[in-house]
Amino acid sequence: MTVHVVGAGLAGLSCALAAADAGLDVVLHESAGQAGGRCRSWRDAAIGEVIDNGTHMFLGGNHTLFSYLRRIGALDRLTAAPLLFPMIDLADGRRWTATPLRLLPSLLSSIRRSRTGTDTDIASLFGSSRNYRRFWEPIILSVMNTPAEDASVKVFREVLVRTLWRGMGASRPFMARTSLPATFIQPAQAALPAAGIALHLNHPLRHLERSAGRAVELSFDDGVQRIGPRDHVVLAVPWVVAASLLPGLPVLPASPIVNAHFRIAEAPRTLPSAGFAGLLGGTAQWMFLRGSVLSVTVSAAAGLVDRPADDIRDQLWSDVSRALDIGDRPLAARVIKEKRATLFHSPAVEAARPRTRAGDNLFLAGDWTATGLPCTLEGSILSGKIAADALLSSIAGPP
Ligand SMILES: Cc1cc2nc3c(=O)[nH]c(=O)nc-3n(C[C@H](O)[C@H](O)[C@H](O)COP(=O)(O)OP(=O)(O)OC[C@H]3O[C@@H](n4cnc5c(N)ncnc54)[C@H](O)[C@@H]3O)c2cc1C
Repeated sequence: MTVHVVGAGLAGLSCALAAADAGLDVVLHESAGQAGGRCRSWRDAAIGEVIDNGTHMFLGGNHTLFSYLRRIGALDRLTAAPLLFPMIDLADGRRWTATPLRLLPSLLSSIRRSRTGTDTDIASLFGSSRNYRRFWEPIILSVMNTPAEDASVKVFREVLVRTLWRGMGASRPFMARTSLPATFIQPAQAALPAAGIALHLNHPLRHLERSAGRAVELSFDDGVQRIGPRDHVVLAVPWVVAASLLPGLPVLPASPIVNAHFRIAEAPRTLPSAGFAGLLGGTAQWMFLRGSVLSVTVSAAAGLVDRPADDIRDQLWSDVSRALDIGDRPLAARVIKEKRATLFHSPAVEAARPRTRAGDNLFLAGDWTATGLPCTLEGSILSGKIAADALLSSIAGPP
């Protein structure tokens, strides 16, 4: 009995490890030359440092993510940020620190209201809150990667009840200490051989043949893999690829994220001591300092992503230099556009996200599947776990 997991992003890695830990033979097929998918880094020639495709933040309440890190022995590869969110308003230079605890009352009443009724957009729920523009709107944008006036309350509520709702520990922000792969991918890859998992890189799945509700053949460039009666397939590829392999799956709308990395001569003394800050009233939304690289994130960047990289660089540096009151130009810059960073998390898209089971022996994983969470590290790792659990219970049969 072999499980073929296609796609070695976080969803595929998490699924492969969970299935192998349950005693199954697992083969992992990845189209790229490295594992990690959208969770990736490289040594950038312009910047002269390792940079991530985008700064990734996660929270203490992301329990599946922490179990995954424990499994791969990477719990020590994190940096915890203080439980406060320094904010700077570019319009008037005002600075303040948002503390989730102080904002809890408005959070509680909005959660209460969101419990009833059908899914709607978040702005209609939070719009009148005093803290809306000063805290919730930038948080919603970054968590949902969707403007609040379009974003699903149902999904955001699920994030809140798993994190801020559970108190200090679950609200605490974390980041990868040196790079995303060093925390999430390389330790997982190192754990594969001991788990008996074979990883085939540069091995794109070209075609999936189905018959009578079952996956029966996987076609790769180097040949066809027949799927035996006891074998299983998990597609852990991005949603656009999944829709091309499985006609009938919806091609869900995507939302882009733009990041700019600036190499700077020295840490600006005007940067809040937390090492990051939220920015209001400009194009830049969050900035993070790691070593000599100041990284700027713009979520839900549909209005920005098609502009030339040099324009984006100049616009974002102008926001940063205004916020931090620094005159010098950066030593180097790199703009990274991720056009399909995540789903566009509207109520309509939420209703259309496919469930895990796609056939008798065919399962879907990936942040875009119906996990109830937005497309995040936690969501992708959870989707892999859900797929492995579904597969295991299908093997076990009805209770
Ligand atoms: C810029 C950016 C910033 C982000 N910020 C955050 C953040 O702050 N916090 C957070 O929690 N999340 C964040 N995310 C989201 C997070 O990175 C993703 O949710 C997660 O990495 C998705 O993992 P996945 O395994 O579901 O999909 P993917 O990473 O897309 O993995 C799919 C894999 O399938 C492979 N593949 C594709 N086609 C084939 C084929 N035909 N055959 C075989 N393999 C194939 C791909 O190469 C890839 O390795 C961010 C994402 C981006 C892009």
